[in-house]
Amino acid sequence: MSLIKEIQRRRTFGIISHPDAGKTTLTEKLLLFGGAIQEAGAVKSNKIKKGATSDFMEIERQRGISVATSVLAFEYNGIKINILDTPGHKDFAEDTFRTLTAVDSVIVVIDVAKGVEEQTEKLVEVCRMRNIPMIVFINKMDREGKDAFDLLDEIEQKLGLNVVPLSFPIGMGYEFKGIYNIWERNINLFSGDSRKDIEETIEISDLQSPELNTLVGNTAAETLREEIELVEGIYPAFNREDYLNGDLQPVFFGSALNNFGVRELLDCFIDIAPKPRPKQSEERIVNPNEDKFSGFVFKIHANMDPNHRDRLAFIKIVSGTFKRNTPYLHVRHNKKLKFSSPNAFFAEKKEIVDISYPGDIVGLHDTGNFKIGDTLTEGEAINYKGIPSFSPEHFRYINNADPLKSKQLYKGIDQLMDEGVAQLFTLELNGRKVIGTVGALQYEVIQYRLEHEYGAKCRYENLNVYKACWIDPNGSKPEEYNEFVRVKQRFLAKDKQEQLVFLADSPFSLQMTQQKYPSIKFHFTSEFN
Ligand code: GDP
Repeated sequence: MSLIKEIQRRRTFGIISHPDAGKTTLTEKLLLFGGAIQEAGAVKSNKIKKGATSDFMEIERQRGISVATSVLAFEYNGIKINILDTPGHKDFAEDTFRTLTAVDSVIVVIDVAKGVEEQTEKLVEVCRMRNIPMIVFINKMDREGKDAFDLLDEIEQKLGLNVVPLSFPIGMGYEFKGIYNIWERNINLFSGDSRKDIEETIEISDLQSPELNTLVGNTAAETLREEIELVEGIYPAFNREDYLNGDLQPVFFGSALNNFGVRELLDCFIDIAPKPRPKQSEERIVNPNEDKFSGFVFKIHANMDPNHRDRLAFIKIVSGTFKRNTPYLHVRHNKKLKFSSPNAFFAEKKEIVDISYPGDIVGLHDTGNFKIGDTLTEGEAINYKGIPSFSPEHFRYINNADPLKSKQLYKGIDQLMDEGVAQLFTLELNGRKVIGTVGALQYEVIQYRLEHEYGAKCRYENLNVYKACWIDPNGSKPEEYNEFVRVKQRFLAKDKQEQLVFLADSPFSLQMTQQKYPSIKFHFTSEFN
């Protein structure tokens, strides 16, 4: 098949939600439709169990699952679908942000009873900033929850979206009778035990038809007619262009657990969701249909087996075809690398592949060459943008607790940082190392992995930092900049890319510093060019 045809038939997306909204359940049902798994329960939840902070087995279990579910690929109606896993736990939000750089669209799952929750807000904000096309799935309609219109309002207000319902529930909870599919203009009735079977739909071309009353009863039929009239009055007509630009978000209702409303979602998704899109690099926009291969690393997974020091780097293919045993340029190192056993991921297994296309993810075995954001090409020096570091929320000094193992410690820290587990800052004043993380859980992960994978021991020491701000010297007045560097030396550090970072100890001191040195730009992410 030609490159263009392969691109046309690919959809690469992520499912985002607050933990417990139903992401894993929905993923599983999508895989069932694709015939990629045979029964429910095959997809393991990558959720952190409560109390996991001190349970190291849990960390390992979690990492194992996270490898297994990193990418789930399947075919449905001739379309190759790649689902990229996004951890819902807030301590791993940074992993999710990075994964979002590799998706072409997302599905947002919302629990009908809980409405918009905290993690959903944060993740949707990132998608909105990047204009990623989003479809919303309101889940658990078999339970009592919020009124559909209220919830749609809440989504618009809290998430800043412009919604357009493409399906609408007929009742909810005990009274949940089914879904009217506005997109296809048919009705899907809920029997309550459609978990395994793919339900039948009943075509209703005219909502006024008495058949509707026979099917769902007079009251529900009347309510539905009124509600659909309201929907048509309030919400704009669906427009694919607006959806693709991130200006309009279609909404579906259903119950993932009962496999209800999932097929409607999937059918609409493969129809409207974007195929792999052009990507902006620092140098130029790269189109998927260019003959020359390019791709970037968005995730690294390491050392699942302590006897084999290898890592798996996940590459999203942006353009051209990726072929096995072909030398590609590692742009940052300016050297050619060849991969004899690239992995492709399917629902329950990974396999060596000879060729992959834009939108696909390949896993490359790596002995320490890659870090997140690295680009591979056929020779051109392209650097993909858009994998910034955000200011961590927690900061601690990391100290060596076994002086005989300092080499191991530094190697371990170096590799864990390349994987994106946390961020390292080196203080300008005394060279002390500070680890910054999004969540407290990461400190345990780092300590455990340093010990088990590198044979090194570390100790943490508290440090009072409110935020890390990246300093952009460009455009600042030299005398102001020099004074800043001199006066604030105690608060300055370098990140791993040798960029200067100001570690503010309070919102107040940050504000004062910004006022005192107005020509210096303070950035809250590492990528500001
Ligand atoms: P995740 O944390 O977003 O991956 O959520 P899960 O898929 O693990 O679901 C969390 C819980 O909600 C599980 O107990 C599911 O069985 C349940 N659940 C998921 N979908 C539905 C649904 O449609 N209806 C009901 N009643 N429960 C659901």
